Amino acid sequence: MADDAAPRPVLDLTCALIARKSLTPDDAGCCALIGERLAALGFTLEWIDAGGVTNLWATLGSGAPLTILAGHTDVVPPGPHQEWQSDPFDPQIRDGVLYGRGAADMKSGLAAMVVAAERRLARGPTQGTLAFLITSDEEGTARHGTRHVVEVLKSRGLTPDYAVVGEATAARQLGDRITIGRRGSLGCNLRVLGKQGHVAYPDKADNPIHRLAPALAELTTTVWDRGNAHFPPTSFQVSNLHAGTGASNVIPGAVDVVFNFRFCTESNAEDLKARVSEVLDRHGLRYEADWWLSGEPFLTREGALIEAARAAVGDVTGLDPLLFTGGGTSDARFIAPWGAEVVEIGPINDSIHKIDEHVLVTDLDRLSRIYEGILDRLA
Ligand SMILES: [Zn+2]
Repeated sequence: MADDAAPRPVLDLTCALIARKSLTPDDAGCCALIGERLAALGFTLEWIDAGGVTNLWATLGSGAPLTILAGHTDVVPPGPHQEWQSDPFDPQIRDGVLYGRGAADMKSGLAAMVVAAERRLARGPTQGTLAFLITSDEEGTARHGTRHVVEVLKSRGLTPDYAVVGEATAARQLGDRITIGRRGSLGCNLRVLGKQGHVAYPDKADNPIHRLAPALAELTTTVWDRGNAHFPPTSFQVSNLHAGTGASNVIPGAVDVVFNFRFCTESNAEDLKARVSEVLDRHGLRYEADWWLSGEPFLTREGALIEAARAAVGDVTGLDPLLFTGGGTSDARFIAPWGAEVVEIGPINDSIHKIDEHVLVTDLDRLSRIYEGILDRLA
């Protein structure tokens, strides 16, 4: 896709990855392509596939420090093709911008990491172990991807020192923001039970909506914590509420509520569950609660990795990045509890998961130079 003669290895590899239609959790040959490049550098490839998900663990060298470059090849569905200015799986450059599904999230990050390793190793061997952890199950359930690989590697007694995840983190320009932590995410499908009946005979029924309302009001106004220097306060949000039989003269037998906590390091999942149960019990509700924990919060403390990342970003962009903890979840939530210092650094994220997802062509090589600068300082 490069339309002039200058070699642009990050651009070329990003385009090759975008052209592979890796709708989550299908890897569509992306890992094989990356694996070929790494094998040529001397990396040992191990496939830790599970549940139809492709997971590549590639290592070079031995011992500490173990420095991991991590990411995912899968992408979210493009939505209606006709709304895209060009085919989402046919990478196209217009006015210095590369368009395609995965351009920012996160095929450019992966390509930049591979080229960074190639450049770094061309100058001599790294210290300790350099590894790539790449999965095709980040955008989906994320059950058989990084979570699984980490469990396998943990069971071998392997402990990481540093991990860089190539998710899109920049707000307005490359390097203005890096992610050093994430909030936790805890969801619940709650069914509050009552007794169905005629609206004209409420004494013979038990309206679950009426029972739920005051409890829900309390949950929406509870202060769960006050946050801290790195995180905003924990938030509780209802994302769905439904009941009814379809007839306006029937009191329904149950009401279903879906809610989610985005929680900071001042709270934990077990406490939040217990506090919700306490409210529901105190209001005398009969209910079934089906909880799911997407990830506990984590925070990387200032140390060698953040220092290296800041310096590398400064060298390439002249910026001192904001150390950010907002945004959605990523696979960093599985790598951080394993014991690694983790940062996420990637391109501008304003188009991810959208129609006409894109990345600035000039940012591709610069991102690769940032990763290379981190490797220079740590590995
Ligand atoms: Zn992503």
